[in-house]
Amino acid sequence: MQHADILHWLRQHDPERLRPLWRRADRVRRTHVGDAVHLRGLLEISNHCTRRCAYCGLRAPNRSLPRYRMTADEILDACHTAVAFGYGTVVMQAGEDDGIGTPWLADLIREIKAATPLAVTLSLGERPDADLAAWRHAGADRYLLRFETSDRALYERIHPPRPGTRSDRIAILHTLARLGYEAGGGVMIGIPGQTYHTLADDILLFRTLDLDMIGVGPYIPHPHTPLAPQADTPHPDQVPHSSALMACKVLALTRILCPLTNLPSTTAVATVDGAQGHELGLQRGANVIMPNITPIQYSALYQIYPSKASSRETAEQTRATVRRRILALGRTIATGRGDSLNRLRRLAAAPT
Ligand code: SAH
Repeated sequence: MQHADILHWLRQHDPERLRPLWRRADRVRRTHVGDAVHLRGLLEISNHCTRRCAYCGLRAPNRSLPRYRMTADEILDACHTAVAFGYGTVVMQAGEDDGIGTPWLADLIREIKAATPLAVTLSLGERPDADLAAWRHAGADRYLLRFETSDRALYERIHPPRPGTRSDRIAILHTLARLGYEAGGGVMIGIPGQTYHTLADDILLFRTLDLDMIGVGPYIPHPHTPLAPQADTPHPDQVPHSSALMACKVLALTRILCPLTNLPSTTAVATVDGAQGHELGLQRGANVIMPNITPIQYSALYQIYPSKASSRETAEQTRATVRRRILALGRTIATGRGDSLNRLRRLAAAPT
């Protein structure tokens, strides 16, 4: 599929004409990664953040948000819950929090790996190469770092660097792969200033980067951030925000271009379409769901965007809903860690 084909599908809004795209993505998904859905327990370990990203409610200047950081014991408890729930992976996500010390987290990763069979995924933002290496050495398996948009000018507008540095998430994705992590990238869909054209570039970049995991979700405006969507008539090539349909198109195209990648039906899709967001994602290319296992008093404060799906549900309730939805689609729930088949293919192809 070329840029022009991707653009054609991204601009297609007619439900009848979109059917062949959904069918093709679902077929590619079944052929390459099968019917089993992998469950990853999402643990939001801290909402402290030093950055000023224009889109994110955790941004440092948002003084209205009470901040928390989970203790090592709380995190270990949640990992045991993940095991009891049958999840194969724990995903530890946070704002960019310098209070998450490098040796502290390395020790915690070692403890989790010693006490449980879980795969450990980190999603902690842009950390120095030495931190990423230390955590990999301690046993971390995967790292998620969305590049948000491949439009460099737009990226710089919405994602100011740490003072005196340049933010280059694509370079970090290369570092992660070199360190032996399963590397995950992704974008938001409908950022003010993002065009269909650059969104098609993003999808092609997923393939070029040969990512093992790709997370995509609608951009959802947060009232305590400066990135409000333009109130007047937007540019005709502007991608709409908060759209489950747009997110599904990107999911489907991503599955077709990256058949072996692990692709979650994300919480953001479930947030903009509470009734059927997760199901639509699973039927249009996704093979992963990340049910939240964060204790509810913390989850309610992890407000990257407003009214996050599941922020008012307990981990038990989320587990029950997610299982019911997967089984109702005739899909199965995977057991085990759900390692990336894409990475296995790459390792098998590498010269020895
Ligand atoms: N601090 C980490 C984890 C951030 S939260 C990091 O920066 O990588 C994970 C993802 O949530 C971000 O990468 C971004 O794509 C998404 N996100 C943040 N704000 C959002 C918003 N307002 N709407 C939709 N997605 C958002």
